[in-house]
Amino acid sequence: TRKLFVGGNFKMNGDLATLTKLVHQFNEADVDVESAEVVIAPPALYLLPLKELARKGISVAAQNAHQLPAGAYTGEISLQQLKDIGLNWVILGHSERRTIFHESDELVAEKTAAAIKTGVSVIFCIGETLEEREGNKTEEVVTRQTDALAKVISEEDWKHIVVAYEPVWAIGTGKVATPQQAQDTHKVIRDFIAKRVSQKVADDTRIIYGGSVSGKNSKELCFQPDIDGALVGGASLTPQFIDVIRSAE
Ligand code: 13P
Repeated sequence: TRKLFVGGNFKMNGDLATLTKLVHQFNEADVDVESAEVVIAPPALYLLPLKELARKGISVAAQNAHQLPAGAYTGEISLQQLKDIGLNWVILGHSERRTIFHESDELVAEKTAAAIKTGVSVIFCIGETLEEREGNKTEEVVTRQTDALAKVISEEDWKHIVVAYEPVWAIGTGKVATPQQAQDTHKVIRDFIAKRVSQKVADDTRIIYGGSVSGKNSKELCFQPDIDGALVGGASLTPQFIDVIRSAE
């Protein structure tokens, strides 16, 4: 059985005082840390202080990283550097990175392979735009994005991956996918992994849903057979995140 995974992506939000207060609230929440794996992703500047602050059972992830270990790449942070400060998680391929910062399927896959090599696990994000969904291209897009990864990592490597299915039209819009819509696409992704990699990897890999997840809708989403948790944006900046963590209970 796959353990529930709940990620909080703070994006470029918050300051030291508010995020410190938020993590204190998460620390004090009465939740069963055994029932879910919890990872929060603050802006890079706050990774270190929040990592020191977060209690056992709450891990900290970066929101992006460069694929090379070091060099003349002004403004970038390497996976080696994340590992150096004790981080074990990174979000890669978020739709905002793909769209606003023009990261290709190949680059996201290359970064992911580099992360695994460095010993950093990856929340690997995929998902279709509204235009692609309306053009019946959802399956084509999510399998293409997943295939790019399957090309560059080994079967063994998949244990360091959590796939986050985030339909772009549901991100930050309040238009959450219905549990059935999400389940259908999660099944497409899992079936593709079974065919492309192996049945075992398909059975073991967590596929989580992201896009307008709230404390109110998370339980029904996580109840679906192929949905193993959530990647939460806006609601992770509020105590609602605690309700999402409780979805497994
Ligand atoms: P929202 O929960 O704000 O829609 O954001 C989802 C997301 O992009 C998480 O990575």
